Amino acid sequence: MNIFVVNSGSSSLKYQLFRWPNEQPLCSGLVERIGSAQAEITHRVFDVQAPGPPAAEQRSTLAVPDYEAGLREVVRLLTDGPGAVIGAPAEVDVVGHRVVHGGEFFTGPTLVNAGVKAKIKELFGLAPLHNPANYQGIEVAERLFPGTRQVAVFDTAFHQTLPEYAFRYALPTALYTEQRIRKYGFHGTSHQYVADQATAYLQNPDARLITIHLGNGCSMAAVRGGRSLDTSMGFSPLAGLVMGTRSGDLDPSVLLHLLGPLGYTAEQVGTLLNKESGMLGLAGANDLRDVGRALAAGDARAARALDIYAYRIRQYIGAYAAVLNGLDALVFTAGVGENDALVRARACQDLEFFGLELDAARNEARTPGLRDISRPSSRVRILVIPTNEELEIARQCATL
Ligand code: AMP
Repeated sequence: MNIFVVNSGSSSLKYQLFRWPNEQPLCSGLVERIGSAQAEITHRVFDVQAPGPPAAEQRSTLAVPDYEAGLREVVRLLTDGPGAVIGAPAEVDVVGHRVVHGGEFFTGPTLVNAGVKAKIKELFGLAPLHNPANYQGIEVAERLFPGTRQVAVFDTAFHQTLPEYAFRYALPTALYTEQRIRKYGFHGTSHQYVADQATAYLQNPDARLITIHLGNGCSMAAVRGGRSLDTSMGFSPLAGLVMGTRSGDLDPSVLLHLLGPLGYTAEQVGTLLNKESGMLGLAGANDLRDVGRALAAGDARAARALDIYAYRIRQYIGAYAAVLNGLDALVFTAGVGENDALVRARACQDLEFFGLELDAARNEARTPGLRDISRPSSRVRILVIPTNEELEIARQCATL
């Protein structure tokens, strides 16, 4: 079986084609700046005989006026020329789509039909930046892979196991029952993937885990026995941790103050909180590599920003240890979590109380795959697990 995974954003599209059942990636790629005359496409081909990083990479710059043109070009790369991995679109058995918001409708991977599409559309209001692009991805794929089953895998689905006392806000009940204002949580595919890996590593199906996804967006989840019990993002992906450009948790009165005395419009507040805050607002750089360089050069703003970033993570570790009534492992993942030893060290600092002992040398080592960076004496394991959302989406498609 060939499973083609599509992750469509507002101006980009990521894809990966897997051969099942051996989970072999055949190719992966990225179309950036859709809608421009100078869109960039990167297409990578894997060597099926020699698993590992891609064996070849093709880059091209061309006009990609819209999403359909982008996916059409990807289909051409899949089927034609030096990077071709299949003969025709009909050789794709399933197209798996990442869909950001599934609301309370979807708790797992779902075969797309007209009813499912209508529900995804109903959720545009809750995820205005993401669901329209995901929806469009499905419609375009339906045209380019006619007759192929389309499956939607939702970022929110993994967190649908949160108990009501964890997902409700203390607002008038009607805002939940009529307007669906509640915590949904995001990055579910990533939390689920690393939680499954950690549970298998620990050989404990009831493992109590705190999964820490630190990328451009950052979120944490309390997971027990493979079920999400709480997570730091909320009604939208703006809540919780300090992120690259998003503020994370705030007193809601700050918004009232911005909108009232300070004269911001709602749109300006949205831009401020989503695009100008987080590490960018605190340190002047959203990429943790740049923050790290500034820190090494003695920049006081970068030092303070990192203090705030790490402190917020430690607060959530404390909270989730309480939610889980104990802790078996912390799991770091995504761009920052997998690569930034300093952030991991700071996030684990002064938590001996919880039985967390980081091994400094193991934390600094750079080996691929799952890594246990805790001391042998640590009561709680500290793990680094590279996330793979595309593989998780393909697995869920295969399971369905
Ligand atoms: P993701 O959203 O998982 O793709 O993560 C992207 C983020 O990971 C970037 O914005 C960087 O801040 C961060 N990142 C990637 N590589 C490194 C690295 N070697 N050290 C620190 N941060 C990194």
